[in-house]
This record gives sequence, structure tokens and C-alpha cells, in this order.
Amino acid sequence: MKLDAPLKQGEVALVGAGPGAASLLTLAAAALVGDCDVIVYDALVSDEVMALADPAAEKILAGKRGGRASASQHDICETLVRLAKSGKRIVRLKGGDPFVFGRGGEEVRALAAAEICFRIIPGITSGIAAPAMAGIPVTDRSVNATLAFLTGHEASEKSRMDWRGLVEAFPVLVFYMGAKNLPDIASRLLDAGLAKQTPLAIIRNATLTNEQTRVATLVEAADGSMIAQSPSIVIIGDVVANRIAWKD
Ligand code: SAH
Repeated sequence: MKLDAPLKQGEVALVGAGPGAASLLTLAAAALVGDCDVIVYDALVSDEVMALADPAAEKILAGKRGGRASASQHDICETLVRLAKSGKRIVRLKGGDPFVFGRGGEEVRALAAAEICFRIIPGITSGIAAPAMAGIPVTDRSVNATLAFLTGHEASEKSRMDWRGLVEAFPVLVFYMGAKNLPDIASRLLDAGLAKQTPLAIIRNATLTNEQTRVATLVEAADGSMIAQSPSIVIIGDVVANRIAWKD
């Protein structure tokens, strides 16, 4: 099957919109976004990507952002199934990659259960794109042979994560949704044995015109003097020290 072939009636494409810049869309994503009946998109999908949308397509905003009121996951799945059954050609557009902290798995399971035809178009995930924009290689031979992607929500009080095991196994940690809990994340990592001077970078709005990168140490992040705002990727580890700030 050609991933960029026109959608059939009643078919859903679960499409990764990439980190923001329209130029980082895949060819398949651009083709499908530009030729469909309905786009069900998340708040994280950038305006410049939405500008490539089929002008005639209906646009439905779904998916949550930072706790703001929005359609529940159950409602989103139901909407996709209902639209598909009515014969529409649907693009379900999600920021980054749909299967990386994007709940894409739940949506394709709902589609499969309803016997709806679908395809999956991966996207460039922000956990890799954001460090690249900051000139930080997520793996560097002198630093790490492993790499962990995590959600920052795990740092809450209910956390059952084995933080000590985490820092022993992974010299580089990339946190999604880590802005709000940054001081907690940093404190837990210090408690788990990471050095106070371990470098970290916070990259906000990566690949967009308002992109912003800040570099700090773990102890600065723990004491709350680094305020991070969503959407940001937080990368922690010695790869940050190997940064080449190529955009400057
Ligand atoms: N599926 C997405 C992640 C969704 S979770 C992906 O693969 O990228 C939402 C989190 O993604 C945000 O809280 C933030 O941590 C990160 N994120 C998404 N786009 C971003 C961007 N342009 N810059 C920085 N972080 C981003």
C-alpha cells in the first residue's frame, strides 16, 4: 500500500504532524492533509501545518492541552468512528508522532474494533526534533548507548517510577510534558543520585518561529528558578554539554 495514496471513503489516516514547522511534515502527511473531507486535529498541531489543509475540509479541534477542557478520549474515538461510517475521508492529525505519548494506540484500537479501514503515518517526534533544533545530539558515542523518553506526569506524588534504576540505565533522559513538574522531576533525579551540575536544556515551541532554548543545571531546575512553559521538551544529561548552538 502506498502511504500517500488518496484516502478511500470511510477511511481514517492517523497522521503525525511533526513538531510544528510545516517543512518537517512527511510527504504522505502533506498529501493527505491537503486532500480529505475532515481533519480532526489536536491543539498541538501548528497553524502553519493547518494552513496546508484542504480548504474545503471540515476542521474539528479535539484533544487536550495542559488540562484545558476538551473532548474526552472516548468522545474523540466515537467521533472518528461516526465520521468514518458516514463515508467521510478523515485525517486524524496529531502533533509529533501519533504513537509517542499521543494516545494514537487507543484510537486505532477503537477503529479496528469498529472495523473501520485506517492507515498510520508516522511523524517526527518533538523529543528528537527539539534537541536537534538546540544542537543537541540525543545520542553521542562518548556519552550514551541508551536513551529514555518519558512523560513528566510521572514525577507527581503518586509516582511509582524507579528513579534510581532509571538514572542507572539511561544517561540521557528526554521528558515530554515536563514543564509543569520540572522542579519535581529535577528533585527526584537529584535524590536518585544524579550530580547537581548535570546539564539540562528546555526547548519550547521547537521548530516554530517562537522557539526558545534555555540551558541550566539540575540543581537550578530543582530549586524552581527555571520556569518552564508548555509545550517544552526537557533533555537531561551530558549530551547537553556537547551542544553546538547552530542556530546562533
Ligand atoms: N506525540 C507528540 C507528543 C505529545 S505529548 C510527539 O511525538 O511529539 C505533548 C508534549 O510534546 C508537550 O508537552 C511537549 O513536551 C512536547 N512537544 C510537542 N511539540 C513540541 C514543540 N514544538 N516543542 C517542544 N515540545 C513539544
